[in-house]
Amino acid sequence: MENKKLVDALNDNGVLAREEFIQLIMSFNDNDLSYVQALARSISQKYFGNRIYTRGLIEISSYCKNDCYYCGLRRGNKNAQRYRLSKDDILSCCESGYALGFRTFVLQGGEDNYYSDEIITDIISSIKKKYSDCAVTLSLGEKNKSTYQKYFQAGADRYLLRHETADETHYGKLHPENMSLSNRKQCLYNLKEIGFQTGCGIMVGSPYQTAENIADDMLFMKELQPHMVGIGPFIPHKDTPFRDMPAGSFRLTLFLLSLIRIMLKNVLLPATTALGTINKNGREQGILSGANVVMPNLSPISVRKKYMLYDNKICTGEESAECKACLENRIKSIGYQLVTDRGDYK
Ligand code: SAH
Ligand code: SF4
Repeated sequence: MENKKLVDALNDNGVLAREEFIQLIMSFNDNDLSYVQALARSISQKYFGNRIYTRGLIEISSYCKNDCYYCGLRRGNKNAQRYRLSKDDILSCCESGYALGFRTFVLQGGEDNYYSDEIITDIISSIKKKYSDCAVTLSLGEKNKSTYQKYFQAGADRYLLRHETADETHYGKLHPENMSLSNRKQCLYNLKEIGFQTGCGIMVGSPYQTAENIADDMLFMKELQPHMVGIGPFIPHKDTPFRDMPAGSFRLTLFLLSLIRIMLKNVLLPATTALGTINKNGREQGILSGANVVMPNLSPISVRKKYMLYDNKICTGEESAECKACLENRIKSIGYQLVTDRGDYK
């Protein structure tokens, strides 16, 4: 079938066969890209209008016990600068974020065992007590179901855990042996079952990724029915085993953002910092491809350069207010507006 027909079928049926996804991913041309972008944009317009949700990202720790081959925070990176934010640090990020209009705070970090269940639940409940009209999103990696349950009971609303790849063999090329795709997926099912608005996702163009892998990622997203999907290009980090690997394709990232919007209609879909890092108008282009969320950095300026997942990450030198104002202008320039809204999944 012709590519545009496949896209229409995806729009009508909410899914394609694996072979059809593979064909689209391998053969799309510039016309096909414009076609999916326009369709994806009309779907996000229908659900969200020209309103873009914003989440304040607080990077709470650069310590990580894991050794993912792609990530600058991996424990094997001896050059990484490590820091941890205290509860007070985090609350003061929320305070400035609240004043700037953020109604979702995302606490993200490496898998850092310093933060016991007690410490995290205390932080969550303190934020929720002070800012009862705000949502708390966590992105702290793989934990036991009982830990996720405690986080939820303390008031956390959402959890982001990219599955990274839905293919077992590919997963094994990105992670050391002590990590497994089955555990990653189990975590996602547990999070959903507990009641979190749950997000999965991938890096586009991660080393050894094939079109078949991406097709399987699309099918996994269809099966999981996530509330959020985080995708951005892989970008090499100079102190990791993947230092010499090429970055993911900007064009393919935009194409996939659109396909995800067309498949999952009302999903919460961020235009990521990584997308803004590989292209100076990356986040705007992401929105024009169907994304409806941005996640500016609220971390204290003193730690920004220490949370380096990949090289050349943007927004590591500006104050939160500057980041917000810069994004606001960028979003306005393409006819959209940032809104002060929790932006829950509906
Ligand atoms: N430790 C948590 C959260 C922090 S990492 C976790 O792993 O879930 C958040 C995301 O950053 C990861 O899911 C991964 O997809 C992305 N990431 C890590 N290294 C990257 C790189 N080199 N390029 C692009 N994205 C990267
Ligand atoms: Fe740690 Fe997450 Fe980086 Fe893996 S991707 S090394 S879990 S911070």
